[in-house]
Amino acid sequence: MPTIFSHAVFAAVTGKAFLKKPVSFWFWFLTAVCAIIPDADVIGYSFGVQRGSMFAHRGFTHSIVFAVLFGIFAALIARKLLKTPLSFARLAVFFSLATLSHPMLDMLTDGGPGAAIFAPFTNERFFFPWQPIEVSPLGLRFFSSRGIVVILSEFVWVWLPAITILGLSMIVRKILQRSKAAN
Ligand SMILES: [Zn+2]
Repeated sequence: MPTIFSHAVFAAVTGKAFLKKPVSFWFWFLTAVCAIIPDADVIGYSFGVQRGSMFAHRGFTHSIVFAVLFGIFAALIARKLLKTPLSFARLAVFFSLATLSHPMLDMLTDGGPGAAIFAPFTNERFFFPWQPIEVSPLGLRFFSSRGIVVILSEFVWVWLPAITILGLSMIVRKILQRSKAAN
């Protein structure tokens, strides 16, 4: 996995690019939870889950089905507890994509098991053909030399693209506003 910080930053920063309306701190907190929750699967090992099974690391919680289910759950929470201006359907799509961004990033890493993106239908593990992100082992010590390599790689391949997407979306929005005002 990329470190959980990078998962959270990627989902929140790219998410911001696609939201026009202002939302609260807790909305972004929920977005970060969606992006991190798939790695909660590591607790399975304490409960006797076998390595390589569908509920092992990067198994079911890294699937499209899980992302949709958790996205709907997060949308329910947002509707109940946060006064967000977005419809339930939009919230569900937003949080599902935030959750799905996690296995997508994992599939760009150069190590670990692949993501069982089509679970529960198959436990086959997948990577993208291009894997530029240095994998961060679970329990990584950040200030080891390996930690620095991982952080640099995540900055280049996760943070920079997210910031670029946000920047482009702001520019596009400005241009659209201007052309609207001109008409
Ligand atoms: Zn993961």
